[in-house]
Parts: sequence; structure tokens; C-alpha cells
Amino acid sequence: MKVPLLDLKPQYYSLKKELDEAVLRVCESQMFILGKEVDEMEKEFAQYLGAKHAVGVSSGTDALLLALMAIDIKPEDEVIMPTYSFFATAGVVSRLNAKPVFTDVDPVTFNIDPKDIESKITEKTKAIIPVHLYGQSAEMDSIMEIAAKYNLKVIEDGAQAISTQYKDGRCVGTIGDIGCYSFFPSKNLGCFGDAGLVVTNDDELAYKLKIMRVHGMDPKYYHKVIGGNFRIDALQAAVLRIKLPHLDSWSEKRRINADLYNKLFIERGLAEETGKIIFDDKNSVLLPKAVYKDSKSELKNYHIFNQYIIRVQKRNSLLDHLRKNDIGCDIYYPVPFHRQECFQYLDNNDQDYPVSNCAANDSIALPIFPELTEEQITFVVDTISDFVKNSENIPLECENCFCK
Ligand SMILES: *Cc1c(COP(=O)(O)O)cnc(C)c1O
Repeated sequence: MKVPLLDLKPQYYSLKKELDEAVLRVCESQMFILGKEVDEMEKEFAQYLGAKHAVGVSSGTDALLLALMAIDIKPEDEVIMPTYSFFATAGVVSRLNAKPVFTDVDPVTFNIDPKDIESKITEKTKAIIPVHLYGQSAEMDSIMEIAAKYNLKVIEDGAQAISTQYKDGRCVGTIGDIGCYSFFPSKNLGCFGDAGLVVTNDDELAYKLKIMRVHGMDPKYYHKVIGGNFRIDALQAAVLRIKLPHLDSWSEKRRINADLYNKLFIERGLAEETGKIIFDDKNSVLLPKAVYKDSKSELKNYHIFNQYIIRVQKRNSLLDHLRKNDIGCDIYYPVPFHRQECFQYLDNNDQDYPVSNCAANDSIALPIFPELTEEQITFVVDTISDFVKNSENIPLECENCFCK
């Protein structure tokens, strides 16, 4: 049986007629950049997310870059973020000649560890970028408290978490000063190319985001500030308008898939419960935990599982085994920021990031997309179970992993 890590075709075919019509509507209009389609999309997303303003942009990376420009990040400013995320979170800070400052992450959620933030704050610190990794909210109460205490801005990287709710029910991205999302095709809400979105509840920031998206101009050809071309195109907006009403049901399907994985791993004796490891068993599997899950409100999007990540002691051997069995899997992420070649100039101490270093060695992403079948999920778990049973002689890959 073949189980791809992600297959976008079933989703396309389930909405083919509407999507094709939306694309044709844009072709007929020959209005490709911004315009009515984008205005409508922005209104619909602002309402859905519970934000006062939404501004469509060219990618998730540009959403972050634009957000930092709007809060006036200057050369030498420092911006704090987790060391464990997709490269864009840190790359945008360096592109403004500011300094990315890394914290370690929480061992259960892989999100920024609030305990690690305060010690990194200096006079130059201007902002914090919490990342809602894999579709689960960072611990926003603590982050907002620290930001208020030191007068810092908070830019939320919600690229993997559009529609994720924090424990109080608010959508992530609407809690800090500016929220950033990506519509890259592999995200929970993907479009037909690159696109992104920024949201804010602040009128002044919304104005800056809007004009900086078009080279800082207002009115046309009069430039108030220096911006860039961060425009979204109408084709992407039209596609997103068709897909948005389905987002919650897709997230629910991802959660059902995650629950089935958890149940099967526990039934096969490879785990006891989510977020817990069997300490004396080096062959156990650490299952992802939805920390804000509330038994009274199952339908809330506390975790939208952009990725389903398990942790194992013989990760690379398991990766080979899964690939040999035609099961798609990947590592998000093999190299934390502080270990990246391009960030060596920052002179960080590797020992300061034990949790992230560990996660880079033992985590593995399994297929979780909404249209996976029960048979496919069962096959994945059985294949892992087989591996575990026959892996006694395979040496542990890392000395310092989660079982210590
Ligand atoms: C995907 C992603 C981005 C970048 O989004 P693009 O649309 O690919 O530019 C930024 N941050 C995180 C955490 C992401 O997963």
C-alpha cells in the first residue's frame, strides 16, 4: 500500500467544479492583482478569524517580513523567536539587518518556551515571534505578559495554524500585534501558488501594512514610507474564498486521523498515552499531545495538526524503513536555527538548546492530510510496529534523547 505524506488531488477533485469556475471568473475579468476578489477575500478572512483587519500578501514569508517592516524593525534591533521552526521565521529578521535571538522550545508542544524568553531580553529587543508550530498555539498568556512588561511587539507566525484556537477560543494570529499566515499548498489551507495573509486589530498598523504592501504608496506614486511588492493575486484570493468554508471540516478530519493514530499506537503497546513516554522502553513512541484539548468542547480547533509528529529513538532507521514501504514521512526540522550555517555568525551556544537539539534527532512527521483512509493509517502504524519489534539490534541514534 502506498501512503503519501501529502496528496492534494482528492481535495481538488472534491471541489473541482467550484474551483475551476472561480479560476475562470478571474480569467474572464483579466484583473489579476488585488482588486475586488482580494477585497472580498480579506473581508471573509477577517470575519472568520475574528480580526479587525486582514491584508492579503504574496507569501507567508512576505507576511512576516511586512509585519516586521510595519512595526519598524531596524538594523541592530533584536527579535526573539524559537530556534525550532521553518527558516522564514528567522530569515526575515536577518533580511532587515536585525538580529534573530533564539530560545529553546517546550518539549511537549515544540513551541517557544516562555521560561527562556526573559533571559534573552536586552535593551535592543523590539519584538517576539511566537510560532504556532504544527497547528497548535504557543503559550500566549505568558508571552503577552512578558511583551507588556518590556514593551515589546508580538508578531505571531501562524503559517501552520490558520484557524487554530488558543485556550480562550481566540484564533491564533489575532492575539499579538500582527498575525501572519501562509497559503503555501502544503498548509492546512493551501492555494494554487504562493500567498499569505496578515491580520491586526490595530487601525494604524493596518494602514501601514496596506500601503507597505504596495511600495508604501498613498496616493498612487506618492510614497510615504518604503515598502515593497507584497501583493497577492486575484487568482489565489478566488481559490481561497472557495476553500475557506471547508477549513473547519478538514481540520476536524485531521484531528480524527490523529486520534486514530494515537489509539492504534496505544493498542499495539508502543505508547501509553499522548505526550507520555514509557521511560524504560527505548522502543516506545512519544505521541503528540494537544495541550489545550478540552473534553467539553471537542469541536474547537485547539490543534489543527498541520503535522502529526511522533518521536522515536531510532529515527533515521525508521525513516528508511517507512520509505522502503512506500510511506511518506519527513523531518520538521532536522537543523534548528542556532545550528544553521548561515547563523553561525551569531555565536550561539549549542548547549543552550537541549530540547530543540533533541527534537531534531528524534522527531518524524507521518501522513495526516484529511483524506487519508483508516486502512492507510493502520498500515502506517503496523509498519512502525514491525520495525520496533525487529529493531532490538539497531543501536540508538542519539545519547541525549527524550528518554533521558
Ligand atoms: C510555511 C511557513 C512559513 C513561510 O510561508 P511561505 O508561504 O512558504 O513563505 C513561515 N513560517 C512557518 C512556521 C511556516 O511553516
